[in-house]
Amino acid sequence: MNKLKSRKILLLPGDGIGPEVVREVKKIIEWFNKNKSLDFSFEEELIGGASIDANKIPITDEVFYKSLESDAVILGACGGPKWDNLEFSKRPERALLKLRKELKLFANLRPAICFKQLVDSSSLKPEIVSGLDIMIVRELTGGIYFGEPRGIEPIENNQRRGINTHSYTTSEIQRIARVAFDLAKKRKNKVTSCEKSNVMEAGVLWREEVQALKDKEYKKVELNHMLADNCAMQLLRNPKQFDIILADNLFGDMLSDEAAMLTGSLGLLPSASLGSRDKKGKIRSLYEPVHGSAPDIAGKNIANPIATILSLSMALRYSLDLAKEADLLDVSVQKVLDEGLRTKDIMSVGKKEVTTTDMGDAIISKLK
Ligand code: NAD
Repeated sequence: MNKLKSRKILLLPGDGIGPEVVREVKKIIEWFNKNKSLDFSFEEELIGGASIDANKIPITDEVFYKSLESDAVILGACGGPKWDNLEFSKRPERALLKLRKELKLFANLRPAICFKQLVDSSSLKPEIVSGLDIMIVRELTGGIYFGEPRGIEPIENNQRRGINTHSYTTSEIQRIARVAFDLAKKRKNKVTSCEKSNVMEAGVLWREEVQALKDKEYKKVELNHMLADNCAMQLLRNPKQFDIILADNLFGDMLSDEAAMLTGSLGLLPSASLGSRDKKGKIRSLYEPVHGSAPDIAGKNIANPIATILSLSMALRYSLDLAKEADLLDVSVQKVLDEGLRTKDIMSVGKKEVTTTDMGDAIISKLK
């Protein structure tokens, strides 16, 4: 069998449960290399708190440049109580912000799918979440998390003032809206764009620019506008009304976490962060589970690796042009859930509780 061109995957396990869940991804990549004649080359590097401990900074230039050269970067999680007292600019999470910013990863894709096998894990009634399949498209490099001026400054009477700036330009809005509209064409052709145009000028601009792009280039896509607070409410009331939700950095952060909980566990949710296509047709990308480093369960081999494994599946699909392999991995996850295997976070009566390692092994056994 011919080996495909070697593609570089950079693994950044990070902190807390990060190394435990990325270990399972590594096993799957090795399985693909051995059994599907793929030829991924992969390296593993430090990021976040682990990098601070070893190098005094959350990401070294060397690791940063490796991520630039990779075809896909897969990250575990950054952060934890050990580093919580560091000054903001030196904390583990800065590595992630730097990667997102410097790789120009402006589009964050977060699917919220309610697996039929886990419908009882959701805090909502089964009939409300069963069959749920939403994609949240969040702008990732603009808005209030990056806007200037920012900071904390002393003011009169021994008081302090915290400042952050929320701003978006036409091109930033159009760029992310285009991602949502293009994805919509491959799904149910429906986009709900969220902002707070009732109280924020940046929200007014957001609404106008998204509408203008739709009118000009995406006439056949159904577009609705919704205030972000109403969207938060509708996600609980009737989540199945949504197909794609488009939102800025701040509202997208909150709405995607809320959508995450509709599905039952953070341990099941992957994400992709994508940049623009370069001249060679390569898209810079970072794949990571939605969850953080879960310090409360780190080191116990009980974390759910499925979110990170499905992040690998998104990498296969969006960065490595291996849709068939991505489908195979998705189906293997379904089969393991069908057989009743559950990590602790999704455990229920009558099912079999397994460790992180067992879950990874079971998924690999279904790939065969
Ligand atoms: P978290 O996602 O780490 O944990 C929230 C809860 O969900 C915890 O009870 C945890 O045990 C559980 N959980 C999360 N992932 C799980 C999994 N795979 N399997 C089973 N249970 C799981 O969020 P947090 O507690 O708010 O944050 C902890 C640390 O992670 C903080 O330092 C935070 O800054 C960092 N964080 C990092 C990222 C990232 O790297 N992208 C994202 C969010 C939080």
